[in-house]
Amino acid sequence: MGERTGLFVARKKWLAGGVLLLAASVLLVNALADWTYRRGLAELQEHGDARLELYINYLQGVLEKYESLPQLLAIDEHLVHAFLDPLDPQRIETLNRYLETINTVSDTLDTYLMNRDGLTIAASNWQKEHPFVGRNFGYRPYFTQAMEGRLGRYFALGTTSSQRGYYFAYPVRKENQILGAVVVKIDIDQIEQKWAHRDENFLVSDPEGVIFITTNPNWRYKSLRPLDEEMLRQIKDSRRYPNATLAPLGNTVVSTTPEMEIVDITLDAERQRRRFLKQSQYMPKGGWDVHILSDIRRVQERVVWVGSLAWAGLLFSVALFLLLAQRQIRLAEMKRIEDRARTALRDANEQLESRVSERTRQLTETNELLRKEILERKQTEMQLKRTRKELIHAAKLAVLGQMSAGINHELNQPLAAIRSYADNGKQFLAKGRLEEALWNLEQIGELTERMAQIGVQLKHFSKKSSGQVVAVPLHGVIDGALEILHPSLKKAGVRLETSIVPQDLKVYANHVLLQQVLVNLIANAIQAMEGMENPTLSVRCRQQGERAVVTVADNGPGVDPDSATEIFEPFFTTKKSGQGLGLGLTISDRIIHDCGGQIKLVSSSKGACFQFTLGVQQAGAT
Ligand code: ADP
Repeated sequence: MGERTGLFVARKKWLAGGVLLLAASVLLVNALADWTYRRGLAELQEHGDARLELYINYLQGVLEKYESLPQLLAIDEHLVHAFLDPLDPQRIETLNRYLETINTVSDTLDTYLMNRDGLTIAASNWQKEHPFVGRNFGYRPYFTQAMEGRLGRYFALGTTSSQRGYYFAYPVRKENQILGAVVVKIDIDQIEQKWAHRDENFLVSDPEGVIFITTNPNWRYKSLRPLDEEMLRQIKDSRRYPNATLAPLGNTVVSTTPEMEIVDITLDAERQRRRFLKQSQYMPKGGWDVHILSDIRRVQERVVWVGSLAWAGLLFSVALFLLLAQRQIRLAEMKRIEDRARTALRDANEQLESRVSERTRQLTETNELLRKEILERKQTEMQLKRTRKELIHAAKLAVLGQMSAGINHELNQPLAAIRSYADNGKQFLAKGRLEEALWNLEQIGELTERMAQIGVQLKHFSKKSSGQVVAVPLHGVIDGALEILHPSLKKAGVRLETSIVPQDLKVYANHVLLQQVLVNLIANAIQAMEGMENPTLSVRCRQQGERAVVTVADNGPGVDPDSATEIFEPFFTTKKSGQGLGLGLTISDRIIHDCGGQIKLVSSSKGACFQFTLGVQQAGAT
């Protein structure tokens, strides 16, 4: 929501900025166009001033060239004499020829002589189609001016010739008396033609505003200002422009300053209004207003060009600016994304690092714990080993305890026998029966030997084992065990069945501990068979591949099936208190396991049958 509002505000800002920029651009281009227009006009004006000056100089030059010609002619004797005898045709013809020559030499249109009444008495065009001779031009102002004794000058369209001309007239005097006037008419057509130009028009207007010289023939005899009836009548009366309609030029003033005027004029040829810069100057010599009308089309074209260029430049700048702005925005966006990615990466890194250090710390702790545990376990193991040894020993002692009555009996019997053999020996010695006495002594010796053997066996059994595993001959171990238990076996009247196949079967075990296992198993069997008829114990050993299988079986009551899984558990016993600790089978299982074998209760048709396996020493091995 916030982002959308932000976007809206940003868009509004952009829009406002764009509108402002557009307005500023319009103003700027307008100002530039205005400046270009003014500058163009100023240049045009400067140029127009110079051209106008030149034109006026030219006009003045043309007029000045002929201005003094009538004065010069006025003092010519030929002309003065003509007035003295005007009716002599010979003289007049001579004068006509003379004037014709002068006219040709001075390059004027007409040269003629008028008498005081305004009648032309001689003229250069006496031989032309419409000669002036005999015609009265007394109404012309130049004549009047000359009659007043000064230089007459006048512009008019010829009434006879219909040719435009400028007239100079000067009085012809004889002793201060004005006899008539000599008139020179000059051609002004050439003045127009010489100055015609595409973009500038020269105009010369009379005091009434009627254009009589112009480089644009369509404007000839048109008035710059609308003429009222009175004025039109006056102009008509003066017969200055016979047959001319004197229509208005149709120029509209657009703007005006003291130096220049902007006017719109319809060009007949092009049927369209064109705008001109109009500059005017008064020419006192002719009493004329001289104008130059410069077409401002070029200025306008230049304005259009400058405007177009400015717009193009502005558009290009705006496009460039937008492009740069867009690039800037894209760069900023990319930088933002990069920053964000970098921050995310850094965060992830930090997280990873903290996780790694956390994990490392946990691992270190776990390691420490493990080390402690290992140490504890080692200690426990050592403790266990110690305890186990103690237990084994305790179990041995327990077995010994159980056997103590038998041992006692076993020792007492030979002792009693020794005593009776000694008594008998004594008596035989007293009787001198040496042979019998010796036999008795030999019996005593054998009995002590036997007693010593029991002692050795018991001592051997009761000592603590180192636990070292070596190759042990099975028959030796079995014999030892049976020897230890001999009193108990004998007392219980157990029938023994032993077999070892092969005879020299050797297994990898610890001699003392293996013997303890056998003692445990056999002692259990003897106890189980107590009170049974024909108690029979079988101890069988056979080789099965690389292993020796030892079976100890009895024909006692067997193991209760419910207890079969528990008998190897420590302290499990079904015996009366004082008869068993419930450790015998546990310790036996441990010992066989440590020697690399397995012990289990196997099913039997009668009684209990325990079986254990051990690794066999192969023949040839030591
Ligand atoms: P203990 O002899 O001290 O009871 P043991 O671990 O040697 O401990 O024996 C555990 C139990 O297994 C005995 O209490 C007995 O119930 C049973 N048992 C062991 N050997 C025999 C056997 N030959 N016949 C019947 N039961 C037996």
